[in-house]
Order: sequence, then structure tokens, then C-alpha cells
Amino acid sequence: MVGSHPHSRGLGLASPASRAKMVEELRRNGVSDERVLAAMLKIPRHDFVEEAWKGEAYRNRPLPIGQAQTLSQPVVVGLMSQALLVPSSETGARRRVLEIGTGSGYQTAVLAELIERVYSVERLKGLSESARKRLAGLGYRNIHFGYADGTLGWDAHGPYDGIIVTAAAAEVPRALLEQLAPGGRLVIPVGPPNNQMLRAIDRSGARYQATDLATVSFVPLLEGRA
Ligand code: SAH
Repeated sequence: MVGSHPHSRGLGLASPASRAKMVEELRRNGVSDERVLAAMLKIPRHDFVEEAWKGEAYRNRPLPIGQAQTLSQPVVVGLMSQALLVPSSETGARRRVLEIGTGSGYQTAVLAELIERVYSVERLKGLSESARKRLAGLGYRNIHFGYADGTLGWDAHGPYDGIIVTAAAAEVPRALLEQLAPGGRLVIPVGPPNNQMLRAIDRSGARYQATDLATVSFVPLLEGRA
């Protein structure tokens, strides 16, 4: 298989073998949910970055995706997906999920492999359009794309069993808490650029309970109109 993909180079850096190595690294770093591991083994991460970065696609590092934005490192994508999938003790499996920050669409693809219906909002038009095309090209049909300010959530389709935010918020946006269904879980990095905590916030009735998951480093969530 090495070298058979149109994007691969002589070293086979875009090959299934390098993807399998990435998955081993995920396991060593706390990603244990087999559904997440299987999705990340399947999805061609090199298809989500520009030509110049394809050789780096399966290393555990963030990658530039243009417009000063970055695709998170695989371990962070794995940990966030796994945190989102933890079933609710009240309502069970999560079937409708909202993602804020489509970016390249890689995290969106991981979610689309695991969840019935994914809503994904991106504030930068160029990124939203290219992710839309890329994910359609890969055959995903269960993703609904929005081009808007995601700090306002996406009220029209809510409430959601899960919400995932892939940029750091200074404070948790109120709209996202409101659009979480009872039993729902919000996974979001919170804090200033050099001191961010990945947090899970579980809603039970009208109560919210936060759990700190890991220190992380995300680009800031852009607030206000695009
Ligand atoms: N999850 C993405 C990368 C995240 S980078 C991936 O897998 O590639 C953070 C993304 O959040 C960027 O694309 C950025 O444009 C977007 N973003 C920042 N602020 C936003 C907002 N208010 N609403 C929606 N998207 C936002």
C-alpha cells in the first residue's frame, strides 16, 4: 500500500502504517475508547492539510490550516472526542452533537464517524467552504455546516446531547450552556492563551457540573460577528 495514495511520497508518510503508529501513540497518551481509535485509524488526516504538511500528518503535533488557525494534535482530538462520547447517566448515548470551530474538518470527521448527526459551525468563510467540500468528498452525509459566530451556538437545531468547542474561550459562552440538553455534556478549553484547561461541563436538569480534563493550548475563540 505504501506509495499508492496520490498524496503519499516515497517514505509512505501518508500510508495506513503511519496511521497505525499514530493510533499506538494515542493509546500511550490516554485515548482508550476503541470507537475513537478506530475512527482515527480510518480517517486520512493528511487529506486535511496542505501539500507541504502532509508528511507531518501522523505525528502528534498541531498543523497549520491557514488563516492563523491550527488543526489540533491527534492526542487532543482523541481525548476531546472520547470525553464527548462518555454516555449520560440520564439520557445514554449522545446522538446529536454541535461542534464550534470546523476548521479543516478533521475533528468533524471523527465525530461524524461516531455520532448520528453532527452540526458544525465555523466563523471563517474560506475554512468553512473548504471543509464542507472536503467532507462531502470523503462521503460524509450526516454533517450540517453553519457559517456563523459559534459563541452563539446554533439555536435552530438545539438542544444538543453534546457540544465540543475547538478554540479556547475566555469564559464559557452562555448560549452553549443553554443549548445543552438535560444530560448533555459540553467539552471546551477555557482560559487565557498560556493557561488553558480542557473542561467537561455536564448538565443535569438546570444544574451544571464542571470537571477539569487536561491542560491544553488552543487558538482563541473569536468573538463577535464574522
Ligand atoms: N477543529 C479544527 C481546528 C480548530 S482551530 C480542525 O480539526 O481542524 C479553531 C477553529 O475555530 C478555527 O477554524 C477558527 O476559525 C474557529 N473559530 C474561532 N472562533 C470561532 C467562532 N466564534 N465561531 C466559530 N468558529 C470559530
